[in-house]
Amino acid sequence: MTTSVLLYTMRCNIACAHCSVNSGPKRQGAMNLDEALALVDGLAAQPHIRFIDISGGEPMLHPKEIEAVIRRVKSHGKGVRLTSNGFWASTPKRAEAVLRRLKEAGLDSIGLSLDKWHLEFLPANLARCFVDACRIVGFPPLVSCVVRGSANDAATGAPQELKSLLDYYGLAAERATDLNDWGAYMDSLSESERSAFLEETIQKRLLVNWQFLTGEGRAAARLMSEVDTALLSQTPQTPCPVAGRMPTIDQAGRLFPCCAPWVNYADRAFAKVSGATVGAEVAAMETRPSLQVIRRWGPKRLMLELMARGHSFPERNSGICNLCGQMLEQVDLSTLDAAAEAILAREAECV
Ligand code: SF4
Ligand code: SF4
Repeated sequence: MTTSVLLYTMRCNIACAHCSVNSGPKRQGAMNLDEALALVDGLAAQPHIRFIDISGGEPMLHPKEIEAVIRRVKSHGKGVRLTSNGFWASTPKRAEAVLRRLKEAGLDSIGLSLDKWHLEFLPANLARCFVDACRIVGFPPLVSCVVRGSANDAATGAPQELKSLLDYYGLAAERATDLNDWGAYMDSLSESERSAFLEETIQKRLLVNWQFLTGEGRAAARLMSEVDTALLSQTPQTPCPVAGRMPTIDQAGRLFPCCAPWVNYADRAFAKVSGATVGAEVAAMETRPSLQVIRRWGPKRLMLELMARGHSFPERNSGICNLCGQMLEQVDLSTLDAAAEAILAREAECV
């Protein structure tokens, strides 16, 4: 486990049609700053958590509080990253001023979410302002995009839609580098090589973190005609190493094993946490049978067990996370854990 996620607010200034966590202007509330700082203290006390990612909703609706959270994370010597839709980057000057404040607070990395659904609300020129300001201030320029295509086809590379999107945003000329490839390459370098490559990235590259559109959150209601789906029988049984190992805490302090679609099901939270309890609850969550099964064999194995117990699920799905969403839609945590315990007991007998 290396990363924990704080969803500082589920509110957003816009309401993208594909939003997997149903954020928008109608959602209300945010973390209480003191509670958020206490959560940071509790998370930072876990030696295996190296990064805290701040997301939402749109966290930059609360810029002063976010700066305070960043400062607290850095005071513990941990890494801190932020995701934003960049509404504040409307001019080169504004983008630079905001990024400079975040840099001074200690932020390590910031990602800008952009895609065709953001374009309904935010102008494309934000991206150019953001990337140029990143290079000036010293952040590796990073954009996160959702594109249409098959999430069930692991062999599919970056699609043409991604290239067209970067083109539309005026970023086609940048040296686009897949974030996962970049991270793996960074890990292979020595300390001194790493800082030279980071500098090259800041000045010349554009890091791209992309994924296919799946039927979660608002997309389930608004975009299913654009979502690529596959029959369950043809869906691979893929383990998910993330399950329970990316502890995610929403604005009400609810603890989930990852972000979407889990956070859309408030009553499927594993616990309500505070700074004092978060360490123990995160450790307990990791051992839950349902998450063990998802880590070892994937959500499909759990779903098949539930089907054998009389539950029925849609014939088609839009990827591994959508399988979790389909289960969460219908069964509670104790039912999930009971099915997982049966799988684990059978496996133990086979050994
Ligand atoms: S996708 Fe991001 S920017 Fe769009 S509504 Fe959701 S949180 Fe807001
Ligand atoms: S497969 Fe399930 S547990 Fe894994 S990241 Fe997706 S939603 Fe989370």
